[in-house]
Amino acid sequence: MNMKTDEKNNENIPEEKEIYSNFIQDIIDKDTEENRFGKRVHTRFPPEPNGYLHIGHAKSICLNYGIASNNNGKFNLRFDDTNPSKEENEYVESIIEDVKWLGVDWEDRLFYASGYFHMIYDCAIKLIEMGKAFVCDLNADEIREYRGTLTEPGKDSPYRNRTIEENMELFVKMKNGEFEDGSRVLRAKIDMSSPNLNMRDPVIYRIMRAKHHRTGNDWCIYPMYDFAHPLSDSYEGITHSICTLEFEDHRPLYNWFLETIDLECKSRQIEFARLNLTHTVLSKRKLLQLVKEGHVEGWNDPRMPTISAMRRRGYTPSSIREFCGKIGVAKSNSTVDIALLEHCIREELNQKAQRVMAVLKPLKVIIDNYPDDLVEEFEVSNNPEDPNSGTRKVPFSKVLYIEQDDFCEDPPKKYFRLAPGKEVRLKSTYFIKCVDVKKDEATGEVIEVHCTYDPESKGGNSPDGRKVKGTIHWVSSNHAVDAQVRLYDHLFSVQNPGANEGVDFIDEINPKSIEVLHSCKLEPSLKDAKSGDMFQFMRLGYFCVDMVDSTKDELVFNRTVSLKDTWAKISNK
Ligand code: ATP
Ligand code: MG
Repeated sequence: MNMKTDEKNNENIPEEKEIYSNFIQDIIDKDTEENRFGKRVHTRFPPEPNGYLHIGHAKSICLNYGIASNNNGKFNLRFDDTNPSKEENEYVESIIEDVKWLGVDWEDRLFYASGYFHMIYDCAIKLIEMGKAFVCDLNADEIREYRGTLTEPGKDSPYRNRTIEENMELFVKMKNGEFEDGSRVLRAKIDMSSPNLNMRDPVIYRIMRAKHHRTGNDWCIYPMYDFAHPLSDSYEGITHSICTLEFEDHRPLYNWFLETIDLECKSRQIEFARLNLTHTVLSKRKLLQLVKEGHVEGWNDPRMPTISAMRRRGYTPSSIREFCGKIGVAKSNSTVDIALLEHCIREELNQKAQRVMAVLKPLKVIIDNYPDDLVEEFEVSNNPEDPNSGTRKVPFSKVLYIEQDDFCEDPPKKYFRLAPGKEVRLKSTYFIKCVDVKKDEATGEVIEVHCTYDPESKGGNSPDGRKVKGTIHWVSSNHAVDAQVRLYDHLFSVQNPGANEGVDFIDEINPKSIEVLHSCKLEPSLKDAKSGDMFQFMRLGYFCVDMVDSTKDELVFNRTVSLKDTWAKISNK
């Protein structure tokens, strides 16, 4: 059963998937039955290019694309680029790359709201002509003041009763750049006493001199999102405009524009609960702050919840799609445990990642009775989970590395790894027994472990039925490839960053979210590992070659996810 963490009481509650997962499909089925859109289904994903896409956007993309595909419909990618002060081409390019990478195909339907600026302007003119829009000279503070509150009705703007002619003249002058930024706005004339604040004469155009990434300086007035969005949807023939819950109260306004302007396609807005994930933030504003203030290395820092960071971290498109399918769609907000996301990539890599041996914190082991110059090659399975994965040869010699953690000078009870006088199996090779240790004179730290091996235990098999409980991995010193390895942990120490009153989410960043290890020792087959290649480092986790920093001279690996499946624990409870 899928479990979710309930936002309010943080208890694990069963996900009400059966009830909700199909509510959007149900609406679509009904529309099809009633022939509301001539049996068409057409969805879109409308990102604003003011940041990189994150895992929450992936949920929306998978949902919109999934709905279109399942209904033999169409899917558009449309940039909602109506606010040039925050938008950049870098973001447009990254979004296109990420949506494509997720395996989503918009065919030839890539659009920009800015491509509709003329059409949107014409709609504004139409509203003015109908007496349904007016130019208002109140400033932003005054507009807020006049708007009223949830309990008090708003007051009419003193400019509300301008004549159609006057409004027309002023709006054209706004467009022609005759007024200062912010000095006037165009507002829809709806109802200042509406219980819905969005209906109290909302602003639909503002004056803003900012260079637009596509239209340059052609315009100095820009439509507001609430105005541009329904028009863009309708223009593209979008049947179901799926958005997150915070737009529920905007739906009457969305419908008002479509009805009043009487556009041909009356798109239907449907809201669903946005994705929240534990131990991270999914607000572009907060992600931008992390980047701008240097708390992370950039939008693609592998600790970030962005698609580009997840790609770099070693997530695959299929693992993200699997996650988006598992979480389902609901009508009420909740927070999903990040362990479920990790579970999805772990499961996939368990099936397909090649197993290799890597020692991250090396300790030298010398096998005293092994011939000095002998090198034996042992055949090791590439992936025991996959019978077709084949084998490879791993060299073994007198001097090896093991993990520091796999040796203990004074072991506690039930320590089955290497210790003085104790015997362990070196994965796939021999039994070895610790006979001596060499210490650093100054620090007393063990720097070399001396062992003997049992030649009769070749292949790691007991020659006489004697049992060896521990099996540890190793890398031959002479053959090892050096690498840098980055271990990642949650970006935030707390489950719900920013939720504690008086605590800045920045102060909740996990100080141990990254640990960089140098001079790690990898088995020689990794010498030619390519950017993005994924492996299981046996007993340690899944790792991939970093796409940005790894070079021929120094391989850099990112830990995608550890082997410990905390999700399995949660869902087994
Ligand atoms: P922010 O929350 O930082 O303001 P945004 O949601 O406004 O970001 P957009 O670029 O407007 O960012 O989002 C594009 C689409 O993705 C919208 O339809 C939005 O509803 C959806 N979306 C954004 N965040 C999430 C999320 N966490 N879960 C699901 N869908 C999301
Ligand atoms: Mg938005």
